[in-house]
Amino acid sequence: MSIGALMALTLVVPPAGAGPTSAAAAVTTHAATATVSHATSSVVPSRYVCTTVRSASVTYSCVIGHSVGGRAIVAQRQGSATATRVLVVVGQMHGEEWPGPRSVDVVRSIPTPTTASYAIWTVRTMNPDGGAVGRRRTNHGVDLNRNFPNKFKRMSDSGPRALSEPESAAMARFLTWVQPDLVVSLHGFTTAVDITGGGVRAAWGRRFSTLSRITPAHVVPCGGPCHGNMTDWYSATSKVHGVAFTVEMPRSSKVARACGVPGHRRGTPIQCVAWAAAYLAPRLPA
Ligand SMILES: [Zn+2]
Repeated sequence: MSIGALMALTLVVPPAGAGPTSAAAAVTTHAATATVSHATSSVVPSRYVCTTVRSASVTYSCVIGHSVGGRAIVAQRQGSATATRVLVVVGQMHGEEWPGPRSVDVVRSIPTPTTASYAIWTVRTMNPDGGAVGRRRTNHGVDLNRNFPNKFKRMSDSGPRALSEPESAAMARFLTWVQPDLVVSLHGFTTAVDITGGGVRAAWGRRFSTLSRITPAHVVPCGGPCHGNMTDWYSATSKVHGVAFTVEMPRSSKVARACGVPGHRRGTPIQCVAWAAAYLAPRLPA
């Protein structure tokens, strides 16, 4: 997309200090149906309620949906308003997997220049009901990583149909709108960066592995073949050739060790993963 076209779009964000408000008055179309672009340079969908965050790096925060239990699913954006490189970090899909949200907290604490050419969106949890009680599944008993459209198969914990759940539907809408170059989906079931399938996704996965010092693996356990998982779905449907991969974080994430991110010699896996994500964001393809 040309810079001119980017500039022609309007970023609708409430002024600093404003309370929760809707951008609906200034937006008439859902951005997911608009010209393919990085949404950080586009209008905010009218369904989202966004507020400005008083922070050096976080520009604004949007409620992108709600869980079955009515809890907000929140995405925060830090970095450039006209980014040509966009990273999304999803901290938690399975509510008992706790390292990812803490890694997102670290990402959010890293200053991200608003004058740079990149932006980072973080979703601390897309399963706030499960996260509140330390439970893998949603209030509907659904494993959200079985509910996306890619190779969806009806199983005991998949939900009745693809995107039947408000949590997965919200995330699918969000990713379809943002069209990130890279999505890093954090989990805590085992220790691995998923490089299944080879190609660009595996290349980025290997690079992330080198930086975070989390071992690459060709298969991340899905309890069998992966049906309906988010990363395969996004990698198969991205309109900007974006890719997504899973990072399984160790349960021993509180123990510091050497990590591979330049400028950071030692850190916990929570820190190393966050630093790796922040390091990669400005190095994504424009
Ligand atoms: Zn998981």
